[in-house]
Amino acid sequence: MGATEGSEPARLPFFHQIGVDRQSASSSMKLQQISHNCFAVVPGKNRVGHANSGFIDRGGGVVIDTQSDLSHARRMIELLGTVRTGMPKRVINTHEDGDHVWGNQLFDGAEIIAHRSVPDAMRRVADPRQAQTLLRRVDRLLPRLLLRASHPGVLAFARQLRQDFDFDGIEPTFPATLFDQRLVLDLDDLEVHLIHVGPCHRDGDTVVHVPEERVVFAGDVVFRCCTPVGWAGSYANWLAALDLIIWLDPDAIVPGHGPICGIEGAMEVKAYLEYVREESRRFFDRGLTSLEASKRIELGPYGDWRAPARLYVNVERAYREFRGETEPVLPTGEKTLDAIYTLAKARGMEVEF
Ligand SMILES: [Zn+2]
Repeated sequence: MGATEGSEPARLPFFHQIGVDRQSASSSMKLQQISHNCFAVVPGKNRVGHANSGFIDRGGGVVIDTQSDLSHARRMIELLGTVRTGMPKRVINTHEDGDHVWGNQLFDGAEIIAHRSVPDAMRRVADPRQAQTLLRRVDRLLPRLLLRASHPGVLAFARQLRQDFDFDGIEPTFPATLFDQRLVLDLDDLEVHLIHVGPCHRDGDTVVHVPEERVVFAGDVVFRCCTPVGWAGSYANWLAALDLIIWLDPDAIVPGHGPICGIEGAMEVKAYLEYVREESRRFFDRGLTSLEASKRIELGPYGDWRAPARLYVNVERAYREFRGETEPVLPTGEKTLDAIYTLAKARGMEVEF
């Protein structure tokens, strides 16, 4: 096809590190080349909000997901500047969560692309004013004390966010190019396939496949070394999305969170979801609540993943499916955050979201 016909992309070593450290909230972020034209931007931490971004250095440049706040997004832009000049022409948002869209405004003039559901979903679940208000409550004594008494999980969550992020200045910037099932971009004869696989984590879940370079940017369909969490959709749909990624057989997957992996990353998330659904069923049939079940489910190898107490959300979702309910778990609902907190305490785990 065109200029690149027959030219096999050079195989550069995985995890080739171009990043430069700097003392700031985003100092440990790294840029890693994963194929001839594909890069991953990986933050130093793997807690809530520390999302990966991707970059395809072709056809004017495509950024995949734009980080959680302006400081992280600026750091990403600085790192991208080490491999190309000029701002990328396009941005893809893999889904609607704040940690994947809140840097959008810094890509002035870029075409922002996402699944058709994303703009409305962003209005529902990624309103930066809510995050700003929450962090202000932590900073002021009386609201903080009230929060401690009423919702200790919300307070712990807000404190963790406060350590890592600053949501000031974020203006919601919505994707304007919307697609339904699939969209194929032609980047100077390099095809990039956007495939909507949601809802599994969120409604907009989209995987970005670069067939010629055997790379998949999976968004939050794949979590790596941290506990996956699903807010929308169903177990069945998430498992089908993972099967699709495995079938695409990429050499490299850039997960939404955690280190870059091969298809074993998708397989492990699949095994985790199947295990949690099965275990939840046992306890559901015995009449235990989702929180009680979460206290009893053996974590096995998954206990080493970050934020294991997110388990509660997955058990709660399984319970809803067993009851035939289609309502998703509330995004960062107070009940959910308090339950994760209670579970972590009950199991003697570090409280981490
Ligand atoms: Zn995410």
